[in-house]
Amino acid sequence: MKLEENVPLAKLTTVGTGGPARAFAKPASLAELEWALAWAAERDLPVATVGLGSNLLAADGGVDALVLKLAGDLTSVRVDGEKLVAGGGATNAVCLHRARAAGLGGFEFACAIPGTAGGGVRMNAGAYGSDWSQILVRARVISAEGDFWMTPGGLGLSYRHSALRHGSVVAEVEYGLAPRPPDEIKATVAGLIAQRKVTQPTNKRTFGSVFKNPEHELGAGRMLEACGLKGHGIGGAIISPKHANFIENAGGATSADALALMAEARRRARKQFGIELEHEVQLLGKIELT
Ligand SMILES: Cc1cc2nc3c(=O)[nH]c(=O)nc-3n(C[C@H](O)[C@H](O)[C@H](O)COP(=O)(O)OP(=O)(O)OC[C@H]3O[C@@H](n4cnc5c(N)ncnc54)[C@H](O)[C@@H]3O)c2cc1C
Repeated sequence: MKLEENVPLAKLTTVGTGGPARAFAKPASLAELEWALAWAAERDLPVATVGLGSNLLAADGGVDALVLKLAGDLTSVRVDGEKLVAGGGATNAVCLHRARAAGLGGFEFACAIPGTAGGGVRMNAGAYGSDWSQILVRARVISAEGDFWMTPGGLGLSYRHSALRHGSVVAEVEYGLAPRPPDEIKATVAGLIAQRKVTQPTNKRTFGSVFKNPEHELGAGRMLEACGLKGHGIGGAIISPKHANFIENAGGATSADALALMAEARRRARKQFGIELEHEVQLLGKIELT
């Protein structure tokens, strides 16, 4: 496995911003992953794992850490009875494809979530009334402390939250699915994707939902829309004119631009609704939201 230096995180995030990672590696097996974690531990270097970078905002100044992107065996997907067994780096698109081909339903909700199995666990990603906690049987989590299989309860999965911290890598997951005819799965997925295209900026560079939905009759998107923020821009970043809980890289955006927009959005929501919006997007490196 090659260890690289100064790999730009802008290449590893869907929004296309972020400075260099001090060290970067793509472990392709459990042995390589364990080696990489030990290498970082010996140097006291923090470890961060990226999936597809679809819910990540990385510091423009870079990240003083070993950044890992799972590859090879750690992206494999196989069917075992009514279970789908996937490497932590397996994409949701491949998992859905394999589940459908095997006539296993339950993963359709993830059809428009452009991430990986590990990112899904870390975020307890979800849509259309379902989330990872409802399909995950267990996840294999590897860190400098050891190798453990954890259940959704042990992982502390709740709304867009898990208890996982940087340095704990989801290397493998088991999803519990149920028999469903492939044609029905296909029809459900087509319906959900069509619905998405109407409401969200699916063809722009974004990092998914900016904020978690607050406990309020309005979701974060409607709240920011009511604050008049649709289309509001700072530098190269704009609040999506289609859905106000998305920030688009309209060209040449930096993470600082996105962060400044987030701070402005929080300020307006606080003023107009008395609500403290909490960010859903994960911040990587020396980057702070006010
Ligand atoms: C267009 C668009 C639509 C989206 N729609 C949805 C939606 O409907 N619902 C939803 O919940 N999210 C949505 N998202 C956000 C995002 O796709 C999900 O949060 C997804 O689960 C993130 O997965 P990822 O692999 O890209 O993780 P990343 O964005 O790379 O990382 C997210 C977090 O997970 C950690 N992580 C990643 N891989 C691992 C691993 N193997 N082990 C341990 N930690 C890991 C990272 O360190 C980081 O803290 C959307 C994003 C976009 C761009």
